[in-house]
Amino acid sequence: MNTPATSDFDIAICGAGPVGAAFALLLAETWPDASRIALIDSRLPEMATRDERMIAISHGSRTMLERVRAWHEDSATPIHHIHVSHRGHFGRTMIDRKDYDVPALGYVIRYGDLVRQLNAALDRFPFQIRRPVAVDRIEQQAESCAVHLDNGAILNARYAVHAEGGLFGTQESKAIHRDYGQTAITSFVTCALPQPATAWERFTEGGPIALLPSLRQQTQGYALVWCCKPEDASQHIALNDQEFLRALHQNFGDRLGQFTSATRRMAFPLGLNAAASTANGREFAIGNAAQTLHPVAGQGLNLGLRDAYSLVSALRAHFHNPEECNQTFLSARQLDRRATIQLTDWLPRIFASQLRPVIAARGSALSLLDLLPPARHLLARQMMNGQR
Ligand SMILES: Cc1cc2nc3c(=O)[nH]c(=O)nc-3n(C[C@H](O)[C@H](O)[C@H](O)COP(=O)(O)OP(=O)(O)OC[C@H]3O[C@@H](n4cnc5c(N)ncnc54)[C@H](O)[C@@H]3O)c2cc1C
Repeated sequence: MNTPATSDFDIAICGAGPVGAAFALLLAETWPDASRIALIDSRLPEMATRDERMIAISHGSRTMLERVRAWHEDSATPIHHIHVSHRGHFGRTMIDRKDYDVPALGYVIRYGDLVRQLNAALDRFPFQIRRPVAVDRIEQQAESCAVHLDNGAILNARYAVHAEGGLFGTQESKAIHRDYGQTAITSFVTCALPQPATAWERFTEGGPIALLPSLRQQTQGYALVWCCKPEDASQHIALNDQEFLRALHQNFGDRLGQFTSATRRMAFPLGLNAAASTANGREFAIGNAAQTLHPVAGQGLNLGLRDAYSLVSALRAHFHNPEECNQTFLSARQLDRRATIQLTDWLPRIFASQLRPVIAARGSALSLLDLLPPARHLLARQMMNGQR
């Protein structure tokens, strides 16, 4: 790779994961010269496109991805209904796309496919892409940021955007930090009675189990995100396929009949890790670099894409005034970020609680959500679009 020792850029984006890449594309739509935008990633695209993680993309995120020409209908499975319940307890709620006049409440897409589509869209612009090379540190100066790469190169940019993402288990601890004592097991599973386009979120004492409708090699099945205690996760992962499917059935219940096959299981430690502030002078943080959430209700990437959208607006309006840019970005993100962090922080803790009043209240809350359309609509809108 031919890397100059120093370069001048308007913006250096550190991390070309889904949030960094989408941010670059949204920015390029109106930026006078995309060759003044640097995009740096420590991985080669082939490594990211191998990631088998399945992600639920909200209706709002789909609109954003469509806008930057990174949306391919055939790589995504639509969600028309979401069924929320609590194992062994009274109460459940259904969210249906017909109530919201949208083609789908959301879509399920493989992380690797999404990154591939975003990379193809990046080719449309003359971005300065550096990879595989990691950002080592950033030094703010009066008029710019010096972005130090681990190959010894230094990029000078007016602004640096942290989009290095990461997982709870691999990140340095930030100001708002909570370890849920849960691990997510992921796999693709098939079952005897699949219900097309229906996603299931089932709360259990160990943590929520999500089954997201998904197609794999023309087979209708579900992307599983099974959150449980780390010691249970280790035991479940060590089981052979048949034993694993039986354990899943015992925990999820009989709504989809017997589970019939499962692909290789992967484990992700879960926690909340969020920065107190996501703007500091000439540096901004978006996506998982700003906040890593519990995957309950599938919010992390969706929130990150909304961060990206707001930062583009702030930079466009106040490029020459970092202070204004900070204020505009922070106030645009405040409500949505807080609401989404709270939702994903409360849900796993409330449903895991063994306190009697909490047990009684959460069953009633699910029934109430079903009986009170305004409350259900509020939850559905948060899941589809966040707070804007
Ligand atoms: C099990 C599980 C299920 C999930 N399900 C959902 C879901 O259903 N819906 C949802 O919205 N979210 C979900 N998420 C969260 C979602 O995966 C993340 O929010 C999303 O991947 C964040 O994207 P990002 O681009 O910010 O970070 P990442 O995806 O982590 O990408 C960061 C990029 O930065 C690069 N990088 C890292 N360090 C450096 C460095 N120093 N220098 C240069 N480059 C660097 C990396 O190579 C990578 O390409 C889930 C997460 C997990 C673990």
